Amino acid sequence: MWDWVFPKVCASCGAPLLRGERQVCIGCLLRLPQTLFWKAPQQNEGYFRLAPHAPAVEGVVAGFWYAPGSPLREWVRLAKYHHQPGPLREAARYLAFLLREEGHVPLERIEGLLPVPVSRKRLQRRGYNQAEWVAYGLGEVWGLPVLKNRWQRRPHSRSQVGKSRIERWISLEGEFVCTGPVPKTVGVVDDVLTTGATLQAALASLPSEVRVWVFTVGITQRRR
Ligand SMILES: [Zn+2]
Repeated sequence: MWDWVFPKVCASCGAPLLRGERQVCIGCLLRLPQTLFWKAPQQNEGYFRLAPHAPAVEGVVAGFWYAPGSPLREWVRLAKYHHQPGPLREAARYLAFLLREEGHVPLERIEGLLPVPVSRKRLQRRGYNQAEWVAYGLGEVWGLPVLKNRWQRRPHSRSQVGKSRIERWISLEGEFVCTGPVPKTVGVVDDVLTTGATLQAALASLPSEVRVWVFTVGITQRRR
């Protein structure tokens, strides 16, 4: 479908796409700074940010550093503000491949992928949830279904900007509501892991017996 909308050149560097390449070229995918978290899903910065506050988490894999100069920054921007989620999905597909080939994640136990929802207002403005596109990229390679309509996000009226970490956490509490059945072991998916506050709030809304693996394409380098 996207071939109709965008010409077949790399959305990042403009090089003509070769057979098998979608949206972005292999060269640009190789420029993504890999975290290698998939080799140690319980011993990495993402796990340390999330797991102490979210007992259901069994492992965290954030694929690439969300660093200045990384093409990922541009791809997240395209997904969020320019109606082009394709490159972000391709980064997810690449991560899924790396993880499947080299990772220490029990993919066979994971029964489905649950994208972190955006609020209805954002969904209407953007037309899609970019986390869902990440989930489609992962799910395509792993052969896992993307579980939709299991989670709702209530809008928060006030801006999160300028708030401290604890203030953001308090305002996020109660923002997520689990509205559908969730399998026993699930992969929770988002685009970029920052403080982890959003993911913590989302995970807190899941039934307590659910075990969680967290997958994000990017991770910021420092706690904010
Ligand atoms: Zn390129």
